[in-house]
Amino acid sequence: MAYGTGVARGMLVTLRHVFRPAITVNYPEQQREVPVRARTNLLWFEERCTGCSTCAQACPDGCILVQTSPRADGSLNIDRYEIDFRICMYCGLCTEACPYQAIQSGGRYDDAVYLFESMYRDRQALTREAQAYLHGTDGRYPNGQTQAMNPLRTSMPTARSRVPVAGAGGGFGPQRLPGKLDPEV
Ligand code: SF4
Ligand code: SF4
Repeated sequence: MAYGTGVARGMLVTLRHVFRPAITVNYPEQQREVPVRARTNLLWFEERCTGCSTCAQACPDGCILVQTSPRADGSLNIDRYEIDFRICMYCGLCTEACPYQAIQSGGRYDDAVYLFESMYRDRQALTREAQAYLHGTDGRYPNGQTQAMNPLRTSMPTARSRVPVAGAGGGFGPQRLPGKLDPEV
């Protein structure tokens, strides 16, 4: 190969890219939209959770804690729901195991923390995160559905009415559904 050919070819590649539109964005001023089903994080939606603990049993790392107490109507009151993100490997097995899509992959990818302990999230912290997400998407879950599109159905008819407001002051939840939706059920 003649001397300098490699340099010329390299410059040609550079020149070609100079006139193409940029494919990068000026993060953090500009942010790309997170695609539906992106495994960026874990979001827990209290209004969809029955407290069945299937997610906790499916987690190989044991990072999910679910503590419940029985209600008179047969449903479960969720006393505690916590995720230890310090040991979570974001495998998504909990999201696949949940029968009610109450825990889903998605949400922010920029929630870095200064304190390692802050990665242990209790129910309030998880609900804050989920509500912020829902407000940003106008009630659309990471899987692209809304409560109205995919209302909760359990074998217990009263189980879904036990969260009066989804999270603290949230605008999304079973109380926002337009009545009993599916007459076939
Ligand atoms: S993503 Fe995997 S490791 Fe993390 S909580 Fe879910 S099952 Fe456990
Ligand atoms: S997140 Fe899903 S699997 Fe886990 S306790 Fe709630 S309903 Fe059950």
